[in-house]
Amino acid sequence: MFDRIRARREHRASQRVMDELLKFAYQEPPVPNYPEADRASSPLAPAVPVVEDFLPPDLRLPTREEIAGMMMRWDTPLVIGGEIRECPQCGAYRNWVLLSVRDQVWLRCRAGHETLEPALDTAWYNRASGPMDRWHPTLEDGLKHLGH
Ligand SMILES: [Zn+2]
Repeated sequence: MFDRIRARREHRASQRVMDELLKFAYQEPPVPNYPEADRASSPLAPAVPVVEDFLPPDLRLPTREEIAGMMMRWDTPLVIGGEIRECPQCGAYRNWVLLSVRDQVWLRCRAGHETLEPALDTAWYNRASGPMDRWHPTLEDGLKHLGH
């Protein structure tokens, strides 16, 4: 009789252990309580922090698609296909401003004569120019900045 009572107790005890194990097996993983500063490194935090935006609009430079054209100084003689380009109206052959407008490149001499250069295009202009570092509200403002 004592054996049966002992056996029942042991059975109940092992049943409790099994219940505890099942409870653990079905539990959701605990949510770690990280301090505020460590939240970004928590595995539950998003991998990339959400930022409002890249820059305020007044600090952004326009993209090449948003501007009417690009310009740069070209002080040395411009040699295309072995020939030095010169202004057809005044004969100037250096101190150009090169204008890139709608996939065309225009040469502008010091006297303000503008000549389309069909041998050059935007791809050439982009290879020859540096990155855009400034923009001007008008063509005249840009020419003034470049000393023309
Ligand atoms: Zn000219």
